[in-house]
Amino acid sequence: MNFTPTELERYSRQIQLPGFGEEGQKRLKDSTAVVTGVGGLGGTVALYLAVAGVGKIILVRGGELRLDDLNRQILMTNSWVGQPRVYKARETLLNINPDIEVEAVNEFVTADNIDALVQQADIAFDCAFDFKERTLLNNACVRWGVPMVEAAMSGMDAYLTTIIPGETPCLSCIFPETPEWDRWGFGVLGAVSGSLACLAALEGIKLLTGLGEPLTGQLLTMELGTATFAKRRPYHDPNCPVCGNFTKQRLSGYVTNKKVGVRSQESGVRS
Ligand SMILES: [Zn+2]
Repeated sequence: MNFTPTELERYSRQIQLPGFGEEGQKRLKDSTAVVTGVGGLGGTVALYLAVAGVGKIILVRGGELRLDDLNRQILMTNSWVGQPRVYKARETLLNINPDIEVEAVNEFVTADNIDALVQQADIAFDCAFDFKERTLLNNACVRWGVPMVEAAMSGMDAYLTTIIPGETPCLSCIFPETPEWDRWGFGVLGAVSGSLACLAALEGIKLLTGLGEPLTGQLLTMELGTATFAKRRPYHDPNCPVCGNFTKQRLSGYVTNKKVGVRSQESGVRS
């Protein structure tokens, strides 16, 4: 793939990163990412994927922008309150980087739409506002062998992990029972959701390009009130009702993940 002079200039500062180069840039350009949720988390993830040059970003979120979203919604404007947020997000992202493609899906994640969305994607970012949508995305990513970056927060606490179906614990392995989690039940600072979102976007960029070491099979917990970070290894349940069969098939060589998994083997990155 050839880059235009504009693209080469736009991405020149990251292309010069050791281990990234034009090959890393090409991998981003060839990739499609689906982001569920366009809030303080998903909107910021999408922003950093867009400026990095991920070729196609699919934003999935129903509903209109509210005034109380604006303490963390960096893709929105005050005048957009009351309008569907995905369309403004698309407009802002394309204003910043017109060299990429952005698809705005003004729908919530449902059992009816999730498979078609995930099948188009090389990577998914779970930034949904409730566990129902998170579970639907996790299950579809396992079904289709698509890696998923899982990012969630509550108040000043956040966690992050990268799930590769069959290789790492999935969301159901980590949370066998749906946690009590009320989206209105906690306060949120934009700098907290934004910090988590930057790390989530970076996880995706690392997975897609082979740069650095992603958090595969590791759960990063962050207590941002005290700036305390820790990594844990969650249990990968061989009998997980969601990923157990996929794990067994994968170990037997019967199925392979989409191109991220192949790529990580090629580049020697542990995954
Ligand atoms: Zn599992």
